[in-house]
Amino acid sequence: MPGVCVDMSCSTEKKGYYREDDVQEALIRSHIRFLKAAINYYLCDECGEYHLTSQGGLHPLLNDPKVQTQIEREQREQEWTARYNRR
Ligand SMILES: [Zn+2]
Repeated sequence: MPGVCVDMSCSTEKKGYYREDDVQEALIRSHIRFLKAAINYYLCDECGEYHLTSQGGLHPLLNDPKVQTQIEREQREQEWTARYNRR
């Protein structure tokens, strides 16, 4: 995947994202998949990349109606896919 840090150069050992676009995408993805969701991201002092975090406040992006619609739509699609696969 382009833009994803693989060398783990910083001590957080979290996945790093070079571009803000990429970390925003990852933030949205983590909500779609019902994971223990990250709610925000930050720019790391150590590696200069963005990391997801579950601490702090909810990122305003996740309150964006457009983004919420996208999350709901993709979650519904995943539910259907899961149901289909269970047959
Ligand atoms: Zn870092």
